[in-house]
Amino acid sequence: MSFFDSRDPAFDSYVLGNAPVKQLATGFDWVEGPVWFGDAGCLLFSDIPNNRIVRWTPGSGVTTYRQPSNYSNGHTRDREGRLVSCEHGARRVTRTEHDGRITVIADSFEGKRLNSPNDVVVKSDGTIWFTDPHYGIMTNYEGYAAEQELPCNLYRVDPASGRMDAMVTDANCPNGLAFSPDESRLYMADTGRMFSDDPQHIRAFDVGSAGRLAGGDVFHVIEPGCSDGLRVDVDGNLWSSAADGVHCISSNGDLLGKILVPELVSNVCFGGRAKHELYMTATTSIYRVTLNRQGVQHP
Ligand code: MG
Repeated sequence: MSFFDSRDPAFDSYVLGNAPVKQLATGFDWVEGPVWFGDAGCLLFSDIPNNRIVRWTPGSGVTTYRQPSNYSNGHTRDREGRLVSCEHGARRVTRTEHDGRITVIADSFEGKRLNSPNDVVVKSDGTIWFTDPHYGIMTNYEGYAAEQELPCNLYRVDPASGRMDAMVTDANCPNGLAFSPDESRLYMADTGRMFSDDPQHIRAFDVGSAGRLAGGDVFHVIEPGCSDGLRVDVDGNLWSSAADGVHCISSNGDLLGKILVPELVSNVCFGGRAKHELYMTATTSIYRVTLNRQGVQHP
């Protein structure tokens, strides 16, 4: 059985025919938010229902990084390498300082509590962009069912000034995020409101010089499943989660090929010494495949 389903010759050059899609660890309940720490030589990810951030280290396996984690979901690193986390339970975005202290980046907008921040990216200017769908407060799966106070928006925070802006206000449930390599484009997945027939797709926005967004048309529709999380490689291709694995999508919106994974994938990140390893959080397990392709990853 092949680990890959190629739809375009370009994809054949991205994959290594005998590189396996390898299960690295399993036994989790719902994993999300992978982020690679090359300096520490480890992967961090959320095991959301178990209220913990898990650390996977090559050769050593799995240890607990933080528990409780306030039901953290998506993670990234800022331009100083600090961990930035979306927390469902505390309904906030935080930054973990180098000394371990936790700084709250955002927990409200215009006096109303955020819903349940889901995924986050940091732009080269240091601004923090995150999505705030309502998934964490619509049910008591995590014990935090609550009234929704704000629409499901995409926000930008400038941690230097504290300024916070709602950048996308017409989404149903914004989810995974990624900038194109030159940051001229922002990709935003919309996975739709819980208990609804909302369309699920990836939208593409043009990023203006002042940081304003324009456009926002549907860029690609994942089939089967939806895009919960995505990352971009150095050539601008998207690597997005899907129900049958990870889909590679060109910057034109064309499906180039699939990495087939035996569990539903939620999110991905690039890691390894050359950022050539794709780490995948998939339901109860994490997987890795080595690619002939390098991810955009900062720092
Ligand atoms: Mg997500």
